[in-house]
Amino acid sequence: MSERFKRMLLGTFWIGLYLLLASGPLAIAFFGDPPQARSFWIEFSVALGFIGLAMIALQFVITARIDHINGPYGIDVIYRFHRHISIVAFLLILAHPLILFLAEPAEYLPLLAVWDAPARAVMAWAALLGLVAIVVSSIWRIRLGLSYEAWRVLHGILAIIILALALGHALGVGHYLAQFWQQALWIAMGGLVVLVTTYVRLIKPFLMKRRPWQVANVTPERGNCWTLELEPRGHRGIRFRPGQFAWITVGPSVWMVQEHPFSFSTSAERTDRVGFTIKENGDFTNQIGRIAPGTEAYLDGPHGVFTIDRRPGVEGAVYIAGGIGITPMMSMLRTLADRGDQRPHLLIYANQDWESVTFRDELPQLEQRLNLRTVHVLQKPPDQWQGETGMINAPLLDRHLPQRRGHHEHYICGPAPMITAAHQALAQVGVPLERIESEEFVLV
Ligand SMILES: Cc1cc2nc3c(=O)[nH]c(=O)nc-3n(C[C@H](O)[C@H](O)[C@H](O)COP(=O)(O)OP(=O)(O)OC[C@H]3O[C@@H](n4cnc5c(N)ncnc54)[C@H](O)[C@@H]3O)c2cc1C
Repeated sequence: MSERFKRMLLGTFWIGLYLLLASGPLAIAFFGDPPQARSFWIEFSVALGFIGLAMIALQFVITARIDHINGPYGIDVIYRFHRHISIVAFLLILAHPLILFLAEPAEYLPLLAVWDAPARAVMAWAALLGLVAIVVSSIWRIRLGLSYEAWRVLHGILAIIILALALGHALGVGHYLAQFWQQALWIAMGGLVVLVTTYVRLIKPFLMKRRPWQVANVTPERGNCWTLELEPRGHRGIRFRPGQFAWITVGPSVWMVQEHPFSFSTSAERTDRVGFTIKENGDFTNQIGRIAPGTEAYLDGPHGVFTIDRRPGVEGAVYIAGGIGITPMMSMLRTLADRGDQRPHLLIYANQDWESVTFRDELPQLEQRLNLRTVHVLQKPPDQWQGETGMINAPLLDRHLPQRRGHHEHYICGPAPMITAAHQALAQVGVPLERIESEEFVLV
């Protein structure tokens, strides 16, 4: 069975399981001995509430960085799904009280007076308020001036509170949860979420603590970047696939809030020392140059599926990188060079200007060691520049891509607009969709 087919099967399995679990509450509600049916709109509204609640619980599992779940899709797709499906869950939950108000105003509108309302209604309002806060703080985080770290703590705490309140509301209403087994199933679901959260927040950091790393070197690179090299302290290091990434914590405690994802930029053939090339881009990345050798660090990884190792049979590969999106490509190229790979490789590398081209000086050496051709694309080329300029588009790709495009794998990494443009351009020059892989560096 081909790798691609296995991935498709696994991907379909997780989507099927998701749909089953998200709609499972309806089965719990109606199985056994259902209570007397109410009007269609009341039942419909309750069904929406139940599905929304199950979707919120599933969000904890989706974002738990479980490789089996992330594997078939890639982590950026999983996070995009998390963001979009949150809005769907929010709308379903919002529709639940709105439909009740419209369908039976005399019965339900008085519940708006929270001071007189029963506890189950107060919990529902508090959960809804929490949901509004979580959606607003996620969509407008930067406009609200929230740092990524503050947002992340708030997001986690709010999510747990919302789930507990919503569960309390459903159990308090009890209409479809009157029987012991129904209550037990929902409480078990809450328990599963607690288990997943405990694993992510306590057990995993504890395991990471037992495999510490230390900063070996911090080297400046072109384009406001630094290469941070880490070496294992008292263990044998890590095996990763070129193109994968890890979440890094630098400092004395593994439980620190500052934890950032970075692609390995070094060769996967070397496990005793790993390197990440990091562009100055904010409060954490601006400090990299000041990290002293010997400083403790922790790695959560490897993660990700953006790797040529998943396509051992391809004739060759095309890499389209924009700016710091070069790092996973660099790891792939360095690894392939170490392995003595003979296949043709083409790197199309877009940057603002010639001076800020990270790894500019190493690429010619890689061209000597590999069957590699590099095409630089500059937005602000220097005088006398003979190479490509402007944006990556279909005519540019058509000029350079190999003839047998369907037999080459195409990797794109860079800013989101570049990824979209490159995807479209590749499709225009006849590259089949299943031959294109991309990775975005922005998860939130
Ligand atoms: C899979 C992946 C691989 C990456 N590989 C590299 C790489 O090789 N080199 C590189 O320079 N950058 C890489 N990044 C981007 C890098 O993680 C962010 O630039 C960095 O976390 C910014 O942190 P900051 O505190 O300096 O900036 P901030 O000012 O805090 O944030 C700038 C932006 O970075 C994003 N960000 C911040 N913290 C995180 C976080 N913990 N997790 C996810 N996103 C965050 C947010 O969108 C934020 O708006 C990668 C990102 C991902 C998702």
